[in-house]
Amino acid sequence: MDSNLKRSIILENYQNPKGKGLIEDESYIKVNMNNESCIDEINLMVKIENDIVKDIRFDGEACAICISSASIMVETLIGKTTKEVEYILENFLKMLEGKEYDEVALEEAIVYDDVHKNPNRKKCALLSWWGIEKVLNKLKDNK
Ligand code: ZN
Repeated sequence: MDSNLKRSIILENYQNPKGKGLIEDESYIKVNMNNESCIDEINLMVKIENDIVKDIRFDGEACAICISSASIMVETLIGKTTKEVEYILENFLKMLEGKEYDEVALEEAIVYDDVHKNPNRKKCALLSWWGIEKVLNKLKDNK
């Protein structure tokens, strides 16, 4: 993907993040994530029903990479099964480690394919995705 296009997708998701704003609803699984190497702190709430991600919402103080990444994550993961989410997550992690990954599965999240060259930014891009991993683990513990 062209680097100008990447930048504009990141900017658009930072300025108009999808899923921003928490709601009162006990049916969501909630996690708090923070990144000590940046200003990032986000609260994430995820609704999973019949093994499908129905909704993801987040809020918090965070940098542009972190907010845009959370927004892109919301867009990418809603409607996916937990198995698909695990697969996407695995590939997002691989991409940020500079390894081979499945580009098609990541959809718009490939805009962070350069971030592995900048270790300080890695945690920013990963924070919300680690949050989803935590949610999936909570779900397994509850079963
Ligand atoms: Zn950050």
